[in-house]
This record gives sequence, C-alpha cells and structure tokens, in this order.
Amino acid sequence: CGIVGVLGTHEVAPILVDALRRLEYRGYDSAGIATINDGKLARRRAVGKLVNLSDLLVHDPLAGKSGIGHTRWATHGAPTVANAHPHRAGDVAVVHNGIIENYKELRAELAQAGIEPQTQTDTETIALLTHQFLASGKSATEAAMATLGRLEGAFALAFLFEGEQDLMIAARKGSPLAIGHGDGEMYVGSDAFALAPMTNQVTYLEEGDSAILTRTSVEIRDAEGRLVNREQKTIQVDA
Ligand code: GLU
Repeated sequence: CGIVGVLGTHEVAPILVDALRRLEYRGYDSAGIATINDGKLARRRAVGKLVNLSDLLVHDPLAGKSGIGHTRWATHGAPTVANAHPHRAGDVAVVHNGIIENYKELRAELAQAGIEPQTQTDTETIALLTHQFLASGKSATEAAMATLGRLEGAFALAFLFEGEQDLMIAARKGSPLAIGHGDGEMYVGSDAFALAPMTNQVTYLEEGDSAILTRTSVEIRDAEGRLVNREQKTIQVDA
C-alpha cells in the first residue's frame, strides 16, 4: 500500500522505516524492507504495526545504503510474514502497490518452467518472472523491463538487485509514484510526503512510466519505451 526506495549515502534502514511511518495513514497490515550491503541483498518483514518491524531491526539489523520498503494492505494472500513485501526471487527484490490482474496466467507459465511460488501473493509472481529473465542472461534493467511488459493491472513498483548497489528500477501504472532528487541520493515514494524529510525536489511519474535510477541519474521512459522528460518540481510539504 505504501512504497519507499532510497539510493543513499547513509545507513538506509532507519530512513526507510521513518518514510514508511509517513505512509501509515494509508493503512496497512504488515511491513518490510530490503537493503543491499556489500552487494548482498537481505530483507526483514513483520506483521502488524511498524514498531514490530523496527523492533525486529533492533535485534536483527540490516546494514546498507540502498534499500526499498513497503507497508502492505493485503489483497492476495493473508497478512503473514511470508506474504509481506519485499518479495524476493534469487537476485531480485520487489515492492508493489496494487494488483497484478494476470498473475494466475503468469503463475501457470512459470509452473510450465518448473517454478513454484512460495507465497499466495500476486506480487511474488513479479519477482519470479524477473528472476527467470535474469537467469536467461538479461541484465537487471533488461529483466525488469521485460517483466513490466508482461504485467497487467494497477501497480507501483520498485526493484532492487543483488550486486547492484547503485540501481533501482521504478514503475507506475494506476498507482502513483514520485521520484525524489537528493544530493548524490535518489528516492522513490508513493507520495511526496513520504520523501519530505529527504527532499523537496520531486518528479511525478506519469501513467505507464518506468524509471532507471542511480544516485546521480534518472532515466524515464513512457509506456511506449521512449525516453521522456518529466518536470522536476519544488514541492511544499511539512517535513
Ligand atoms: N497485491 C499485493 C499484495 O496483496 C499488494 C497490496 C498492496 O498494495 O499493499 O501483497
């Protein structure tokens, strides 16, 4: 229900949890984060209030300066730890707002290839599909783009990849997503309010847009795959 992502210059776990707190107003039943540290992807997830996630992080911290976070409002699959986001398959982790309408078809295709889901969610299908594209030799960016081409429904997404500390892929179709510009940092968020403590420089993705982010660059493509310029705005929100 809420998405945040940070390619940062500081330890990112507390920043992600703070940003998720600013999205609590949307409602949620579970929460989680994933980070990359020394190239390694790892995640922590908890059912219930964000305090459960932050307690977990006290006992079992996650280091790293790149990360994604999510508050989930379950649509497919019960609110359990296994169904909480980020979802991971191999080298990819993904957070998702919305619903993938064709997830059953995609699951059937994956089953043909011998790939069985571990959760009841529509979202895990995105990770499994991306993993399959990675396994077929595509780069992280190519795998994410190929996956986006297969998804129907409403979504906002953020992807992170093991071994890629300076890369985040974001996409929106039917659910809002904002990109925040920092000083040698880059962010994504379901809304600008979530990003307000970090930046007031925001670019809103338009319907069908996807974005390739590094700490210092943003490349946005429209639904037809054309490179586009989206206006960077200075927003006024109370941090
Ligand atoms: N459909 C996804 C799920 O049930 C995402 C729900 C959300 O937007 O939080 O896990």
